Amino acid sequence: MSRDVFVLVEHRQGVIRDITFELLAKGRQLANGYGGSLWAILIGADLEAMAESLRQVVDKAVVVEAPRLCHFHSDYYQQVLATLLQEHRPLFTLMGHTSYGWELAPCLGAALGIPLAPGCIDIWLEGELAVCKRMVYGGKIVGEYSLRPSWGYLVTFPAGTFPAAAPSAQAGLIIRQQPPQLEEIAEKVFVRLMESPAGEVDICQSQKIVAVGRGIREREHLRLAEELAKTIGAVVACSRPIVDAGWLPKDRQVGSSGKTVRPKLYLALGISGDFQHVMGMKGAETIIAINKDPNAPIFSVAHYGVVDDLFKVVPALITTVQGMQAK
Ligand code: FAD
Repeated sequence: MSRDVFVLVEHRQGVIRDITFELLAKGRQLANGYGGSLWAILIGADLEAMAESLRQVVDKAVVVEAPRLCHFHSDYYQQVLATLLQEHRPLFTLMGHTSYGWELAPCLGAALGIPLAPGCIDIWLEGELAVCKRMVYGGKIVGEYSLRPSWGYLVTFPAGTFPAAAPSAQAGLIIRQQPPQLEEIAEKVFVRLMESPAGEVDICQSQKIVAVGRGIREREHLRLAEELAKTIGAVVACSRPIVDAGWLPKDRQVGSSGKTVRPKLYLALGISGDFQHVMGMKGAETIIAINKDPNAPIFSVAHYGVVDDLFKVVPALITTVQGMQAK
């Protein structure tokens, strides 16, 4: 039985997405732990530069190029992956719990007749049995599930589950592989890539973030967060309800269906800390939470916590920082 680990590389416009390096970190741990090799599976067109950068992280990078693979298309990807998986029979195949993985993994698992563990936070072997860990009921409970025995398992992990793998002195092998005869899919055709409009700020690039949640209560109160952000040189981000209410644009949302951020400072104002939010910010270097509920789950990831009314604490904080800056 193979102990190899495959990671599907997600890329767009010639750039490998962060989730890939997070999966490669987990893939390396699994491959080393079970005595297999770590493979990156790179599917598309014009892949040379990306293959070179993957060499520094993996044992083998399989490159499958064809004009039809130019843009992500789950059916064509499935045809390529099914061939590769049948040929090499890796123990684990990791994909992002992203639009790539959501579309591709269930169909691939069904086509190959192998189990799929979606949205996991961990996976391991107990004897010959694969066991995975998943958050359920909005992250309130962590469940452990054993998967039925199989030669291989598909696993998807949400963005932000693992720290990204860093390049090393590794000089992995690049294997160029011809795609199988790709059966034309007439009913699903790539039309064009629509980029979401670039926002004024990129919260992923910011070292300091002031994030607001439903505890801010009213749109007008956002001014308070903006003032604090201005005072400490941060940008304003938010939890999902703030975006749903139309108070801030989607590109400010942190979490599993928003952005994953890793700033030096993350100040959470009136955010409960539900699993979906925490997925996007738990990698911050320092997390400070202000919440009037001492049992709010945000305090379990915060390094510093203030249990109080944010409308009392934030103005005091602004005054204190401004006073220090004036000296
Ligand atoms: P709440 O949970 O309502 O928390 C508000 C907090 O403010 C409470 O803890 C309260 O104690 C505190 N508070 C109230 N008043 C004050 C005050 N005056 N001073 C101090 N504290 C106060 N959420 C995300 O954020 N990002 C995502 O990407 C995301 N994706 C999701 C994807 C799916 C599929 C689903 C189902 C949900 C997703 N969610 C996401 C929603 C998530 O489950 C939570 O509902 C959301 O994060 C809660 O936002 P919140 O903490 O702002 O609000």
